[in-house]
Amino acid sequence: MLDASGRDVVLVETVGVGQSELDIARAARVIAVVLMPGAGDEVQALKAGILEIADLFVINKADHPGASELERDLHSYTERPVFQTVATDGIGIAALAEALLSAPARPAHALSGHATIDHLGIAVNSIDAALAFWEKQVGLPVAHRQTVAHEHVHVAMLPAGESRVELLEATEPETTIAKFISKRGEGLHHVALRVPDFDAAIARLRASGARLLNEPQQGAGGHTYVFIHPASTGGVLLELIKDEHQP
Ligand code: ZN
Repeated sequence: MLDASGRDVVLVETVGVGQSELDIARAARVIAVVLMPGAGDEVQALKAGILEIADLFVINKADHPGASELERDLHSYTERPVFQTVATDGIGIAALAEALLSAPARPAHALSGHATIDHLGIAVNSIDAALAFWEKQVGLPVAHRQTVAHEHVHVAMLPAGESRVELLEATEPETTIAKFISKRGEGLHHVALRVPDFDAAIARLRASGARLLNEPQQGAGGHTYVFIHPASTGGVLLELIKDEHQP
């Protein structure tokens, strides 16, 4: 209704962080999380996971003690911009308004900050044979097919909601997918998560000693990805994909 009312700018203030706020976040072009100094807000924010939701942060009542400490804390958790304002005096409002209006629109899938399942990679002997099930019986459409020569696979992508099923067929014997199938049979090969703050996630994984199977690199679709060995994930080959909406 607000959209249809023809206004240039609609500000929605929510009361906190819960499911209804996430619904609003999905509809929003840009999300500002407003905190106050000295209220222990940063701890609450961390607990609620809203650091990941925000496109930018606002420290209001910045004339109160603790504003600079709060800003420092935020900078240690996030690379998103932080603005200090004193709403009652109009301090900092112009800069904040400019940032809100110039922020890039978020894609619907990137409820920013939350990891989403980008796709499930399934190893098959024959994509054509597998499509008889996934396309014809389950009813998933085929968005595209391609051959990724350097990975020795034929790929078919079948969108399923905000995620996709990725069918993988080896182009020749003794390659990754061919070996997987000869060892374990057809089936789920990997899970791919699209993550915010990709670089930070990689840094955390490295620090914890996780076994990365490649350096972050660009895949066929231009996305940056890295694979993590099942030994480091509890038995699942995990592909992390950089959310391109993120800085
Ligand atoms: Zn994949």
